[in-house]
Order: sequence, then structure tokens, then C-alpha cells
Amino acid sequence: MPMKKVYIAYTGGTIGMKHVGGSYRPIPGYLQSLMATNPAFQHPELPQYVIHQYEPLLDSPNMTPADWSKIARDICAHYDEYDGFVVLHGTDTMAYTASALAFMLEGLEKPVIVTGSQIPLCEIRNDAQENLITALILAAYYQIPEVCLYFNGRLLRGCRAVKVNADGFDAFDSPRFPPLAYIGIEIELNRRVLQPVPVGRNGGVRLQAIAETAVVGALRLFPGISASILENMLQPPLRGLILETYGSGNAPTNDQRFLDVLAQATAAGIVIVDCTQCLRGTVDLTKYATGSALAQAGVISGYDMTAEAALTKLAWLLSQDLPVTEVKRLMQTDLRGELTRP
Ligand code: ASP
Repeated sequence: MPMKKVYIAYTGGTIGMKHVGGSYRPIPGYLQSLMATNPAFQHPELPQYVIHQYEPLLDSPNMTPADWSKIARDICAHYDEYDGFVVLHGTDTMAYTASALAFMLEGLEKPVIVTGSQIPLCEIRNDAQENLITALILAAYYQIPEVCLYFNGRLLRGCRAVKVNADGFDAFDSPRFPPLAYIGIEIELNRRVLQPVPVGRNGGVRLQAIAETAVVGALRLFPGISASILENMLQPPLRGLILETYGSGNAPTNDQRFLDVLAQATAAGIVIVDCTQCLRGTVDLTKYATGSALAQAGVISGYDMTAEAALTKLAWLLSQDLPVTEVKRLMQTDLRGELTRP
């Protein structure tokens, strides 16, 4: 059996950081030097791997949609040569990148595992070694035809994941979708929920990158939010907005101007998607008058999508030459396992 090969796209993040001048920062070559002297990374049961270090290495709050597209292009450029891909990334915006990659890479037959750590590999007590080694094993030896996020013993669907813990090793969860695998003594894939391997195509992945012109935003409602805050947000070049609402998708209705601002924006072609601030459950715009008023203003349901998935999906759809009606239809259609319609 030829040895399996994994491509590691090292974009930055805590996993490879070093403590310098009182804080952690990414240092080029540092992660590789730690791995080279750690016997765990030379173990014969690991696949062959290459590390492609990005320039500059980023602390992930500095990631932009252009960086998401750069990672997707990198994976596509090496797609045929490797059995799987690991993306090393900071945890802060990892769920956004994992979601964006899921949409940009169409027809994926090989695993793309996004991971990182809460404590860098250089520290004696760390979660970096386990996360990276398990990600390498999953990427090399398992048929998982989707973009996933691996962290602390659980493999999550990338476009369902959210960061839920700033301190613990259990930094990620996918509260509205079961894990794709549990990694304990055994690696147990939950095959029932994995995306199917694409059929009827002769291999290869298609890339639709996210364009800089696809400007989207997110606005989290709060009690007392004014129509002018909303109006300020809905200015050019904004083309799409994720409105993070209450409960089953509700927003204030006593302020008519608030609803008028929404209706004017949707009439002007801005796509406004309703996602709930709740971690579980789904948007249902028929349930309350405070929800149906949004539907009447032209806001569409994001159902149970995470705000991260909705934002990246909207940017990806607006990057394509599609009529607004089609963008709205696809936003409400399950494309990568990101959405469940009742
Ligand atoms: N600030 C870091 C980042 O997101 C945190 C981490 O990697 O855990 O890049």
C-alpha cells in the first residue's frame, strides 16, 4: 500500500505560537521546528505530510474573506496530489473559515480537516499535539467527503460549528447537528450523517472563491436597537445582512420605521437573512407576529444555520453571477449539510 499523503496548510493561530515579549504570537518556522524534534510526529503510523506555511502567519481575528479564498485555492491547487488536507488555523474565527471552505469547495471527495489548539505546541501541557495528530489520521485514512472541524475528541461539520468556549479544550460545538465522529479509544465515524461521496463526476473539486465585492455583514439585535442603527448598517457597499434575531426569528415590531428600513433595503436588492441568536432550535417566521412582520418586509429565513455559516454562504452566493431571487432560494436550500428545513 503506498503511504498516504496529507497537505497541511498552516495559516497561523495559537497552535504554532511562541511566547515573546509578554504575549503569544505566530513565529515562522517555529511549529515545524517543534514537530521535527517531537518523536510523536515521526511515528510510522502517521501519513507522510508536508507543511505549507502561509506568509504572513495570522492570528485569526485578522483573517478576511480574501484569506478564506487563498486557503481554498491552495487546497484546489494540491487536490490531486494528496489524500487529505489539514488546515491549521486560530480558533477565534475558525468556524467562519471552516464554513467558507465548505461552500467554496464543491464536489469534495477528500477530507479537509480544520484544526488548531487552545494551548500552543511549545507548552508542556497542550491540546495541540492531540488535535494535530488526530487531524492527520482523519485526513489520511478516512473517507470523509466534507470540510470538518476537529477539536478535543470530536469531529464536527465545518458549516455547523461554533466556538463556544474561550478557555476550555472543548472550544467548539455544533449545537444543532450531531458530531461526524467521536474520537476516544476508537475512532467512531457517524456515517449516517456524513455527506455522501459525490457520484457521476470524474473526480476533482470545483472552486468558487468569495469575491471582495460580495460585501455582507451581521447585526445582532438588542433591546432598544434603533431604526437608524439598522439604516446605517444597510448602506452601500453592503449587499447582504445576517440579522441575528431573538428566539424563533423575532424582531421588534412596535417601531414601524425599523420595519420600513428593512423593507426598503430588501426592495433595493439587499438580501437579509434571519438567524436566531439561540444556540439550538430554528427560525420560524410564521410563529409570531414579530417574526411574520420580518417576512413581510422581505427578510428570508436562515432556518437553523449558524450565523457563521449564513454569513459565509451569503458572501459565496453573492460572489456568483446570480439573480437576487436565486440567491434567496439557495440561501434557504441545504447545499452542504448546513441547514435543516422542517
Ligand atoms: N487568537 C488566536 C487565534 O484565533 C486564538 C487561538 O488560536 O486559539 O488565532
